Order: sequence, then structure tokens, then C-alpha cells
Amino acid sequence: MQIKELPDVTVILDKQGAGHYQKVSYPIRYGRFSEVLTPDYLLQYDLNREIKFIQGRNRNWPHPAEWLKRTLGNDWVYYFSGGYTSLFDSLGEYYLPCLPYPSNSLWNRDPFQENQVRQGIEQALDRIPDRLSRIAAANRLDPATRSFLEGIGTQGRKRLREKARTLFSVLQTRVTVLPPDSRHVDYEVLPLIIADGCLYQCGFCRIKTGRAFAPRSRKAILEQIAGIKALLGPEIRNYSSLFLGQHDALNCSPDLIEFAACQAYQHFGFADSFLRDPCLFFFGSADSFLNCPDSLFRRLQGLPYKTYINLGLESVDQATLDLLQKPLEARKAKAAFQRSLEINREFSDIEITVNFVLNHGLPENHWTSLQDLTRAGLKHYYPKGAVYLSPLSRSNKQKQLQVFQKMKRLSRLPMYLYLIQRL
Ligand code: SF4
Repeated sequence: MQIKELPDVTVILDKQGAGHYQKVSYPIRYGRFSEVLTPDYLLQYDLNREIKFIQGRNRNWPHPAEWLKRTLGNDWVYYFSGGYTSLFDSLGEYYLPCLPYPSNSLWNRDPFQENQVRQGIEQALDRIPDRLSRIAAANRLDPATRSFLEGIGTQGRKRLREKARTLFSVLQTRVTVLPPDSRHVDYEVLPLIIADGCLYQCGFCRIKTGRAFAPRSRKAILEQIAGIKALLGPEIRNYSSLFLGQHDALNCSPDLIEFAACQAYQHFGFADSFLRDPCLFFFGSADSFLNCPDSLFRRLQGLPYKTYINLGLESVDQATLDLLQKPLEARKAKAAFQRSLEINREFSDIEITVNFVLNHGLPENHWTSLQDLTRAGLKHYYPKGAVYLSPLSRSNKQKQLQVFQKMKRLSRLPMYLYLIQRL
């Protein structure tokens, strides 16, 4: 680490953050990064000198322990500490990610309407890079500090937007939704699309592509790996987790899943990452889960990842599935849930989690059948195999939160709300 004091600015190069993801109720940073402190802002830059975090330092900033993070997709996410609300109980996390695009959050907070937050982004993208370039030109600096300050000046708003577009073009799509389990690594995953489309084309779903399920070729997967590696450059060492997209990667052959996970581990260099404990995340469906052989789980257990597979079951009540226009039989959804319990008990490094819908006006049997599964069907509390309730709409938020709380109190599995976040 190297510290340089300059007029009105302190620069700290090569700072080392935590080496593994933790759930803490204060700002924490991970991996390797550099920092610029101005009287008003703490700005943190990744290894490509791209702005990654903004935290206000003066009294105008909404809260001293809240910050903004820029994602690989060039979205800003505001981390809200929750005030007096019980965020951890609802989300399993101490912070609520507030998103600048429509999602399904049941909280009203919209920090992007606040001047201080908008100004923070504007300062970090436009004014501060100019100021740092001027400081670099006007002062005698060591080569590392000069190169860092000049580098920030080249990573302006336009360049960051272009880089995100390049990522989408490498993936040949945008990741419209990440699995809820990726919260365990603060959604910091490298994406790799191994299949497009999905099996059901459900009527209620807002993120479906409308395409039939189609796995990608090994060649296409290797091309994505090469493209992402080139795009991230040295910053790749700040990642150790992988998302296999899109909506039902579990429907791919076990060979393809294992191939993608192993190739990514090797070529992204996860063994040399600044972050320990690599994780693998992907989605599955009732059919893909029921059809996949036990041998897949033995193979996943042998990989150097902790694997999370999230199944979109939505309901085990047939009337609710019909209402959602999801072409799935309730008996299959129930069978998938039962199998998830078995896999979770048998494999220490695999966690199957399940999603059910949360909305007002659903048939009463949606809730009674869900209670039967998550309480009556279990002898005692199990800490593994989270159940996520996904709000379908943002109306009647308080009522939805009450229903969630009631279901959570009765559940013998961990239960959280699912906040839809893209990459
Ligand atoms: S909920 Fe899942 S399976 Fe249904 S349309 Fe959406 S992505 Fe496809």
C-alpha cells in the first residue's frame, strides 16, 4: 500500500480489503483497490482505475455508513442501511441494495431522487477525474501515483458505458436477473451464458426472453471466457465467483455445466483471486431439477466451488400456477422441493434454494400449501436450503411484508425476500 498526500486529496494505492465475503453492518470492501479521499468523498477504484465505490464524507450525504457501488453492467447501486427497519430479518443482509431501474423491492427508498446522491455520481464521473488530471499535471509525483491519477482521467462516463456494452456483446445478451443466492458475494459474479431461453414461458414473468431453451456450444462458452478475461484485465483477480446463465442452466447436460464451471475456474484464475471461497450460482426449474441425474451433484461436489442452484417453483398450488400461467404441475413442484431437501442434506458444498411468489390476491391454498411444505413437512429447523419469496408487484407493500413475516415465523427453513437485481 502506498499513501500520497496532495493538496485537498489523499491517494492510497493498492489497498487490501477483506479476502472473503462477510455479512457485516458497516461498510466493508473486498479484494485489491485504490482510494482517493477528497474533503467530500471517499472514492474507490478497481484495478483498471474505474470508479467502483462512492461514499460521501460530509453532512449532506444521506448516511455515513451508506455508499454507491458501480456494477459490471455500469449500474449504480445504493446501499441503504435500513434506518429502523429489520432488513437483516427480511433479506439475510444488513444493507438493502437500491436500484436505479424498476425492480420488486418492497421498500420505498429511492436515493437516486436525492441531490446528494446524484451529485456524488456526477462528481465521481466528471469533475473529480478532471481535477485529478490537473493535480497530476501540476505536481511532482512518483510514477505509480501519476499513472493512477492520469488513468482515472481516461475512464470517464462514456468509456465506462462502452465497456458495459462490450460485456453485453461478449455475452450476446444482458444478464437480466441474478440468482438470489448471489447476495452471498454481494452480486460480484463473473457471468457466463451457457444456455438461452427457458422451458415454460410463464405468463406472469417479466424477464423471459420468449426464446425456447437452447444450450450454447463449448466454442461459444470459451469465446465468452476469453472476451471477459480480456475485458476485465487485472481486475479479474477481484472475482472468484461465477454465474452460469441464463434462466435454466441446470437444463444443460452435466458435461456442459461441468465444462463451463471448470474452464471458467481455470481461465479466470479463481485459484489466484484476491477473494477466497469461490461460489458457483445458477438457476434451475422443477423439470430440469427432476430430470438431472444424481451424478451431476456428485460432480458439482467435486468442483472447487460452493454451488448454489436456485429453482423457480413459484407455488405448489395448482390454482396459483394456473393463475400465473406457468405450465407446471403442482405435483412436480412438490417433488422438486422434496428432492431439494435430500440434496441439501447429502452434499455439503451444494445448496438448492427455491423461489415462491409473493403477492396479494393469490389463492389461499398458495399459502397453506407453502406452510405445509416449510413447516408441517419438516421435523425441525434446517439452516440450509433457503426459501425465497419473490414479490410480483410493488402494490400493497406493507400487506406483502406482513404476509412474508407471518410465513417466515412459521417456516422451518431460512426464508427471505428475493430482490431482483440485474448485472
Ligand atoms: S419464470 Fe423462469 S421459466 Fe417462467 S418464463 Fe420466467 S424465466 Fe422462464
